[in-house]
Amino acid sequence: MTPLTSKLPQTGTTIFTVMSALAAEVGAINLSQGFPDYDCSPHLVDLVSTAMKEGHNQYAPMAGVMALREQLAYKTEKLYGATYNPDTEITITAGGTQAVFTAISAVIHPNDEVIIFEPAFDCYAPAIKLMGGIVKSLELEPPDYRIPWDMVKRLINNRTRMIILNSPHNPTATILRKSDIDELSAIVKNQDILILSDEVYEHLIYDGETHHSMARYPELQQRSFIIASFGKLCHTTGWKVGYCLAPAFLMQEFRKVHQFLVFSVNTPIQYAIAEYLKNERVYLDLPEFFQQKRDHFRQGLAQTRFELLPCSGSYFQSVTYNNIIDEKDSEFVIRLAKEFGVAAIPTSAFYTKATDHHVLRFCFAKKQETLDKAVDRLMKV
Ligand code: PMP
Repeated sequence: MTPLTSKLPQTGTTIFTVMSALAAEVGAINLSQGFPDYDCSPHLVDLVSTAMKEGHNQYAPMAGVMALREQLAYKTEKLYGATYNPDTEITITAGGTQAVFTAISAVIHPNDEVIIFEPAFDCYAPAIKLMGGIVKSLELEPPDYRIPWDMVKRLINNRTRMIILNSPHNPTATILRKSDIDELSAIVKNQDILILSDEVYEHLIYDGETHHSMARYPELQQRSFIIASFGKLCHTTGWKVGYCLAPAFLMQEFRKVHQFLVFSVNTPIQYAIAEYLKNERVYLDLPEFFQQKRDHFRQGLAQTRFELLPCSGSYFQSVTYNNIIDEKDSEFVIRLAKEFGVAAIPTSAFYTKATDHHVLRFCFAKKQETLDKAVDRLMKV
């Protein structure tokens, strides 16, 4: 057979898989991949079990269980003042990743340009490329990783089809501010530019800050796919259930792809989450729950030679290590796992050009004892 021509020649195994495997191999505390090491609510598990016992074990409707879509319409209206019709504007997906892929593949044509900001979560660029789209990336820089809107303006032309945003941001833990929203609104006004807003960390936002969801701003909302994940909301990253909100004209195209990509998503879990969300505290209490972890971890790290970067949202804390060593982050992170027993992610992995600012990302969605143990080890560095 003629050798295959890869559709993604530059793509290897994701850094999350690589670092989690290394952590397991060398017995390091795994603060690399973003997932909790504590369990979800036993009540939620009971609700799944009840849904199964009640016989909710066959295909869900293509767009998702209506009770869950109704809960999401209620939550979005209450938190952001936006009205989404559960019938035509909300779809339950197999996690945020599938929602991102589906949205991009539904609207990106060959040679359409999509603006992304790096460091970027790793699933955006491959989806754009698979559709024949062109990735236009803009690099952000520590410590504050602010979006340079004047440079965004210069990138816009008549092939620009989409801007991808992610707030709270993985990996940098920054959030969009109202000034960013104003700049964005001015840029897309009167342009055929769609927005994909990855808001999977919408409830993980600290110090009383506001989550500037696209849903809050009608002129942005009407051109946006908003992506969310129950993995973060319910502490269940392994269930891979999320959702997409979009105005009907976008959702119609989204569902054309969704129905052939997965058709529908795990039925009993959807019934369970619909019931679980009836108690609003389950998401309203998340900022406090995670802020306590963030603060505890930051206090611990402050005693090490690592330098803390700001953390306004998400479950990631980044650090620089210029006081410690002048070594590539991709190399230092391996030594950190092997010699000191703590696994992190090198931020260069989130840049196409592997730009190295000597920044590492730790996940603090962990039990206090895990964080304490990691800090003990990091003090020895
Ligand atoms: N977007 C971002 C920014 C993420 O960090 C993640 C998960 N790490 C996802 C999307 C994907 O979410 P899910 O696990 O629900 O597919």
